[in-house]
Amino acid sequence: MSVEGPAGGLSVDFSIPASVKEHRAKIRDFVDRELIPQEKQFLTHGFTKSLPMIEELRNKVRAMGYFGPQIPKEYGGMGLSFMEFALISEELGRCPFAHVIFNCQAPDAGNMEILHEFGTHEQHEKFLRPLAAGKIRSCFSMTEPNSPGSNPTIMTTTAVKEGDHYVINGHKWFTSAADGSAFTIVMAVTDSAGAPHERASQIIVPMDTPGVQFIRNIPVMGEAGDGWASHAELKYQDVRVPISNRLGNEGAGFAIAQSRLGPGRIHHCMRWIGICERSLEVMIKRAISRELAPGEPLARRQTVQNWIAESRAEINAARLMIQHAAWRIDKEGAKEARNDISMIKFYVADVLQKVVDRAVQTLGALGMTDDVVVAYYYRHERAARIYDGPDEVHKVSVARRVLQEELAKAGIRI
Ligand SMILES: Cc1cc2nc3c(=O)[nH]c(=O)nc-3n(C[C@H](O)[C@H](O)[C@H](O)COP(=O)(O)OP(=O)(O)OC[C@H]3O[C@@H](n4cnc5c(N)ncnc54)[C@H](O)[C@@H]3O)c2cc1C
Repeated sequence: MSVEGPAGGLSVDFSIPASVKEHRAKIRDFVDRELIPQEKQFLTHGFTKSLPMIEELRNKVRAMGYFGPQIPKEYGGMGLSFMEFALISEELGRCPFAHVIFNCQAPDAGNMEILHEFGTHEQHEKFLRPLAAGKIRSCFSMTEPNSPGSNPTIMTTTAVKEGDHYVINGHKWFTSAADGSAFTIVMAVTDSAGAPHERASQIIVPMDTPGVQFIRNIPVMGEAGDGWASHAELKYQDVRVPISNRLGNEGAGFAIAQSRLGPGRIHHCMRWIGICERSLEVMIKRAISRELAPGEPLARRQTVQNWIAESRAEINAARLMIQHAAWRIDKEGAKEARNDISMIKFYVADVLQKVVDRAVQTLGALGMTDDVVVAYYYRHERAARIYDGPDEVHKVSVARRVLQEELAKAGIRI
């Protein structure tokens, strides 16, 4: 049992399962030996041109029995729990495309989770099975350019019933990995008169359905990317899909999104810890090898020493917070752990920005190039403070709960 400290404070009564330690060591070795040496190909040529290399590496992972660490065994994965997968995800975060090689990348991992939990037998066979086997990719289409993602209850995309079909109309953007996906899961309003959190449903839409318009891959920090490594703008114009493509009950879209986002944030946060570890490794290596004058390595400068010490401490603290949140989800469920999930979302995203920024600074001009991985991380991970709920939204909800607990103890109503 978890015994919380005051006002949502951290308790530390959990441990790392011994069974995962062996997998972690093997995966770390694989990342070092097989993935990091191929990283430059991915960074400079993009996703689509790297597909032959990606497929070859995926086959190696399949042969090791590690393909889909988070996927249930009945669908061919390792069937790890959140806690166990969180530990693997950190190792994979050390290389930008490692999650893809292991078939546990966002947004597919989240889609697999909700398909498994809420999908019908037909949806499992048609969409989940090929996704789990790594034969297809998918995406998740909720955010709209013309309405606030932080309050999706006022989204404008609609799905109107006509006979045994839904007809979907709307405009979405930042649908990550839409380029080349076989299907998307669209959030659309199915009952505009319903209660705010019961208005929308999640509907599976094959990308080749007439009316799905691919507008563009949106340039993000100067890079439009391609394939899995991209974020698309899409329009849905009179898109007809069978009602049987709906995931879960009508109006359950937000409830399903919540169940996906909690665990998904653990995945992101542990990936970010891997990014931090890798950035710190790069920073340390350069601080030792770069001489400001003969026999005067950068590592002698106190500023750089401070960055290294601060990064080490912050990464350790962040990791413990995430592991605790993952452990709590496993033991008590995502609802009970929602405060922990909100805290790690903004705290770890902040640690990530600081550590990557220090690494770039330590490397000087080299840090701005794609000759090293930190520039890629710097460009792409600024978004960590925005997607899956901006910092401010999470801070507000944590503060509310902390205040509520304390005010209730003092007998004050708010
Ligand atoms: C790289 C990337 C990938 C993404 N991938 C996907 C995807 O695959 N599928 C998908 O559907 N969406 C995706 N998104 C969209 C993402 O979920 C939204 O950007 C996010 O929900 C915020 O919505 P918004 O951009 O509309 O910002 P807005 O809602 O317009 O908010 C703008 C800013 O307002 C502030 N703010 C908002 N609410 C509050 C509040 N309550 N209190 C104080 N300040 C507040 C915050 O600073 C926030 O950043 C992605 C975004 C990025 C950047």
